[in-house]
Amino acid sequence: MIFRLGVTGGIGSGKSTVCKIFDVLGIPVFSADDEGRIIMDTNRELINDLNKLIGENLYASGKLDRNKLASVIFNDNLMLKRVNSLVHPLIFSRYQEWCKQQDADYVILEAAILFGAGAEKHVDKILTVTAPLEERINRVMERNLMSREQVMERVKNQMPEDEMVKRSDFIINNSENVMIIPEVINIHTSILEYLKK
Ligand code: ADP
Repeated sequence: MIFRLGVTGGIGSGKSTVCKIFDVLGIPVFSADDEGRIIMDTNRELINDLNKLIGENLYASGKLDRNKLASVIFNDNLMLKRVNSLVHPLIFSRYQEWCKQQDADYVILEAAILFGAGAEKHVDKILTVTAPLEERINRVMERNLMSREQVMERVKNQMPEDEMVKRSDFIINNSENVMIIPEVINIHTSILEYLKK
């Protein structure tokens, strides 16, 4: 089986930015979050299940009302777990199929939630991207045009950064003044060395 690196980190830490650099190095990236969005927009059975679970039509305009979904699940932990238990297995089965089709030295699974979602068993090593909370908040407010409170809702639903770091094999600190390209290249090189053995 192809070697799989998991890339995780809190919202706004810079996971996607780091993954873009791996992509330039020729490493295919599967984004669990992007795939989740696609599945929630297109999988008929899931759409029915979600509407049933939430108890209202989340697709009134024809497209998933993400704000409505977010306002339900980020205020109700049980609902968040239930939605995840519908969506996650579909993402992982797509990911497993995708892995089989890749021809590269290794692949990346990029996921905001890697720990606790059963995703750890789908990767061989884990890289966590970190950044100071204040920087993360400002980045996401700018990127998603969200208020500080909306960003904090998401931050609070994620595992604390130090907990992720403890369970990781590699760490990249993506603070404003740090050069991350050399760090990515170092990790890339050490994985290639490890795979040669
Ligand atoms: P994540 O995928 O972890 O949510 P992103 O990679 O999308 O984070 O980064 C969040 C936002 O911050 C993006 O708009 C990105 O361009 C920007 N960003 C990422 N790294 C830095 C950095 N070191 N300095 C400034 N802005 C950054």
